[in-house]
Parts: sequence; C-alpha cells; structure tokens
Amino acid sequence: MSRRLLLIGGGHSHVEVIRRFALAPEPDAAITLVSPDRLTPYSGMLPGHVAGHYSHDECHIDLDRLCRAAGSTRVESTVLGLDLDNRYARCRNDDALPFDVLSIDTGSVPATTTIPGADRHGIAVRPVADFLQQWDRILATVTKAKSALRIAIVGTGAAGVELVLAMHHRIREVRGNARFTLIGDSAAILTQHPSRLQRRFMGLLNARGIELRLDSAVQSVDAGTLLLRDGERLAADEIFWVTGAAAPSWPASSGLSVDSRGFIAVNAKLQSLSHSRVFAAGDVASMFGAARPKSGVFAVRQGPPLARNLRRALRGEPLLDYRPQRRALALISSGNRYAMASYGPLAWGGTWVWRWKDRIDRSFMRRYCMDDG
Ligand SMILES: Cc1cc2nc3c(=O)[nH]c(=O)nc-3n(C[C@H](O)[C@H](O)[C@H](O)COP(=O)(O)OP(=O)(O)OC[C@H]3O[C@@H](n4cnc5c(N)ncnc54)[C@H](O)[C@@H]3O)c2cc1C
Repeated sequence: MSRRLLLIGGGHSHVEVIRRFALAPEPDAAITLVSPDRLTPYSGMLPGHVAGHYSHDECHIDLDRLCRAAGSTRVESTVLGLDLDNRYARCRNDDALPFDVLSIDTGSVPATTTIPGADRHGIAVRPVADFLQQWDRILATVTKAKSALRIAIVGTGAAGVELVLAMHHRIREVRGNARFTLIGDSAAILTQHPSRLQRRFMGLLNARGIELRLDSAVQSVDAGTLLLRDGERLAADEIFWVTGAAAPSWPASSGLSVDSRGFIAVNAKLQSLSHSRVFAAGDVASMFGAARPKSGVFAVRQGPPLARNLRRALRGEPLLDYRPQRRALALISSGNRYAMASYGPLAWGGTWVWRWKDRIDRSFMRRYCMDDG
C-alpha cells in the first residue's frame, strides 16, 4: 500500500517540497496538497504587484500545475482541525483527509485580534487573495473620487512601509486622488533594520507626502475612525492592517505542541515536538531554540530540508537536522523601482538594488513553472 503524505497549505516551503518530489518522484507515495486557492502568492513580489510592476500571474505560483508535475493531487479546501490519534485532517468541505506523514505550511494570520473592531473594519493583508480583491476595488474607484480617499495603513514594519509606498506610486500612476497615513506603535519605522535604511525610508515617505503617526498604537476602530493611543480620532475611508503575524488557532486546539504565541513547536528536523509524524515550516512553525523572524526568506530556506525529511519519514529512515541561518538578506522596495538591501547592520540602496531584487524574484518564480505535460 502507498504511504500517504498530506501537505496542508501551499506556502513558500511546500512549493519547494512539491517541486522536489516532481524532480525525484517517490515510488509508492501518494501526495495530497490541501489549499483553498489554486494560485499561491509569492510575497517578495506582492508590493511590486500593488505598485503595478508585475501582473497577478507573475507573482503567483499555480499549485495545480505544480501538483500535476509531481503526480500529486490538490484538494481545494481549508483545514479546520486535525484528528491526530486517527491521523486525518478535517476540512471546511467536510472532507476527512487521511495521512501517514503530515506537513503544515499555512503561514500566519493577521495580528489584529487584540484591537476592538479590527476584525470588522478594515482590510487585512491576509488572506492575500481577499486583500488583492479589495485593492482592485479601490483602484477602480479612486480615479472617480471627488474628494481625496483617506487611506490608513497600520503597521510600520517592512510589509507596511513597502505597501504604503507601492499604493502611493500606483494611485499616482492612475491619476487617482488619495491621501495616505502610515500608523505604527513604535517610535521608529522598520525597527528590525539598520538606522541608515530607516532614515532613507523616512525621507521617502516625507517626500511623497505620506503622513506618519509613530508611537500611536491603535486602541480601537469603528466604521471610518481609528482611535489612537493619545486619544486622537483619525478618519479613514480605507484601513489596511499590516500589523504582523499571529498563529492560527487550529494547530493548538488539535493538540499539537505550540510555543507561547501558538505557533507549532518543531525541533531541528522541522518535526513537531509532540507528534513525530507531523512536520511544520514557514511562519506557522517555531523552531525550538532557533526561532527566526516570520519572513518568506526563512520559509523558502526551510523547503529543501523539509522535503528531505518528509522523504525520509515516508521511507522510515533517520531524519536530518537543519540549522537555519542567523541573518537573512532583506530587500525592501519603495514603489518606484528603487530598493534598499539590509543584512545585519549593513544597508545599501539604489535602482540597481531594485533590478537585483527583480532578477532574484523572477528567477525564483521560474523554478515553479514546471512542465506538467
Ligand atoms: C505585503 C507583504 C510583503 C512581504 N514581503 C516579504 C519579503 O519581501 N520578503 C520576505 O521574506 N517576507 C515578506 N513578507 C512576509 C511573508 O509573506 C511571509 O513570511 C511568508 O508568506 C510566509 O510563508 P509561509 O510559507 O509560512 O506561508 P504563506 O506564504 O502565508 O502561505 C500559506 C498558504 O497556506 C494556505 N492556508 C492557510 N491556512 C490554511 C488552512 N487552514 N488550510 C489549508 N491551507 C491554508 C494559504 O492560502 C497560503 O496559500 C511579506 C508579507 C507581506 C504581507
């Protein structure tokens, strides 16, 4: 009988797992991917798509095509929970998907649950498909707006800063009428990056007339108004939440061991600390003793060691340790084909950095356009 490998989520680690099983098929393994969407976004190109530099297809990986190349099946659904004793995943469409080996790469959920009203008002950047649908709606209306559309973006990390600059660029390109406010709870933007990079992006925000509210944690939100820490009420027609990564609740409620924030606790083999047949990678996982920032770079890097250990688990072979790198290169774009790179304390900027990032991103995407004939 074939051994059943169930992959939950078509995230950055799993696309590499499927690619590797396509390049070197595993005899007698039946691989199933469960994912709500056929197209999975590549986060590195998302701000570039919002800015209008890449089409929707250029920044999405076709999971059906990838699965066909690997001889595997994709089930279009969302996993709601696991029965770990009887080894199956429960899905939204009532499917119960059995497994011998399970791997989870479902990413994070928006960290807005602690802000009253945030779940009802505003647009979270995840799920990405919903976010992009809302962005298309805004783009279609912004050119017809009589008065300037007030757009607030909450979150001053790399994703928030990149998005506000990308949106500003795109709206100017389509001759739309909008005013932007970027809101953060810390005293600086891009606090994970060197001060040189922070200063450069502060200058860019300033030059484009994007209003900045620092030290301004959002206390609550209702239709059209954000209440900030100092008591100010900020009016906004559209609110985007880019406030970081939280854990989905279903892994913990299914009985998997999780860290203090609810992310699946895994060892150096990317294997669950509580269930040896279960593996996890990307944002949803937290490596015991080697936690890293929630970023696509680390999820991508975990793809090859995850694929190797899933194969070994299917064969009943000993698993191998993986040691994540301490630092990762970050490439942050500013909407207009300019980008800065940061690595530890170092930072560089220029249009050549954008071209470099563009080459890296496009070559990443080419790897997943596999021949499925
Ligand atoms: C605007 C923006 C820009 C960013 N830019 C960068 C960048 O330049 N570089 C970088 O390193 N990081 C970047 N990030 C962070 C990056 O997006 C995440 O760290 C990365 O996507 C995590 O990858 P992942 O594999 O964990 O999951 P994801 O890429 O989030 O993929 C998870 C997949 O699982 C599916 N899924 C979710 N729940 C379920 C379920 N219950 N059942 C089945 N399927 C499910 C989802 O539909 C999705 O396809 C950016 C983030 C944002 C928001």
